Amino acid sequence: MKLHFLGANRQVTGSRYCLEVAGKRVMIDCGMFQERQFQPRNWDRCPIPPATVSAMLLTHVHIDHCGLIPKLVKDGFQAPIYATEPSVALVGIMMRDAAEIQEEDIGYKLKRHQREGRKSPYPYEPLYSVQNVDQAVPMFQPVKYNQPIQVTAEVSVRFFDAGHILGSAMIQVDASENGQKKRVVFSGDIGQQDKPIVRDPSLLNDADYIVMESTYGDRNHPHPGDTETQLADAINDAVSRRGNLVIPTFAVERAQELVYHLGRLVRAGRIPQLPIFLDSPMAVDVTAIYLKFHDYCDEALLKMVQDQQAPFRYPNLTMVRTADESKKINDVPPPSVIMASSGMCNAGRIKHHLKHNIEKPEATILFVGHQGDGTLGRQIVDGAKRVRIHGQDFQVRAKIAQIYGFSGHADHDGLMRWITHFQRPVRRVFLTHGEEPVALRLAAEITQGLGHPTYVPHYQEAVELI
Ligand SMILES: [Zn+2]
Repeated sequence: MKLHFLGANRQVTGSRYCLEVAGKRVMIDCGMFQERQFQPRNWDRCPIPPATVSAMLLTHVHIDHCGLIPKLVKDGFQAPIYATEPSVALVGIMMRDAAEIQEEDIGYKLKRHQREGRKSPYPYEPLYSVQNVDQAVPMFQPVKYNQPIQVTAEVSVRFFDAGHILGSAMIQVDASENGQKKRVVFSGDIGQQDKPIVRDPSLLNDADYIVMESTYGDRNHPHPGDTETQLADAINDAVSRRGNLVIPTFAVERAQELVYHLGRLVRAGRIPQLPIFLDSPMAVDVTAIYLKFHDYCDEALLKMVQDQQAPFRYPNLTMVRTADESKKINDVPPPSVIMASSGMCNAGRIKHHLKHNIEKPEATILFVGHQGDGTLGRQIVDGAKRVRIHGQDFQVRAKIAQIYGFSGHADHDGLMRWITHFQRPVRRVFLTHGEEPVALRLAAEITQGLGHPTYVPHYQEAVELI
């Protein structure tokens, strides 16, 4: 039995593994590399020929876990992909969006390179097309949490709620080879406890091998305080200054969380009934899927639905789909709340709203998520006085604010709580999905503190599971 590490090794994105059992290959996740310096790996040939894979298991629909599936399909993969019911509903939207962004980016990149007389070592084409996405979507097979599924004669799996985004899963794989049974647990991305909408992450207690994420393995989230109160304060401040509050948001989970909190604040009378816009067709579609699969959500949300309260709907909220409706937001007199994607301001409608508001001292730009290196969002939170949007320079005069309590990932203590729950000694823990120094430090802590031998694999390393 062999486990191949094919991404998110000593860095955070591009999650992919392949387990070889009795001559069959089962892939777990197939994500896109998103850090600028690791993006060339998206073009690497998969060392496992895609046509030889018997099944894929998907933990959740974030692009760094599912974003290369269409490329694998383009390269010959043709097996079933098992994912939870909400993941199956969401994954097409996510992959299609990724294909469209790539098509757009390639056009810009080509023009920029021609202007600067540069040549990329990689083809000026998207990794895959929308047609490849359409080929991939029918391969998905919906599964429910906690139910055993036989994926090959020797491999049965079970999905557990990871509490990270709607439908996110940890996957327990039971494999037998030459009469020997092994249990391998893949943590996926582990959520935070006590988050709204999603349930708490499952605690598993038995494994021979564990593959665990380590994104926040070296730090605890700053005490979040009451994020809802911070949101109310930001809105009331914007109202008193008679300016708009612009919130860059990711289309999945963060957008629904914001809409949910804002609804609670409106109903409780903690903020006035000002116009609130969710300006992202993708976020609007995703919100509809959250509602459809409300039985996958936490008890508080379920209770709202049972009490006939709409968690994602209230009179002053407008869900914006078309470009025309989006432009009309500019004519609404402030103050209003405008949520738009992308969450790091590097694409999408948020750029238009920044153009209209960033030079106004009465406006506020509120960040509610991590801003990656090299993104427009990062420049703004780092205090840039001028920024370039759509080729034009803008002075940053708006108030820049941040709320930190929205992370969808367990922090150091959350990860340790999860791994401590395993009862018997684990043969080996593999840490992935974390920057190298972070993963190494957590590996030392787990090895010394809990006695589980822990290792941080390298990219494309294969390990024998004995
Ligand atoms: Zn994730």
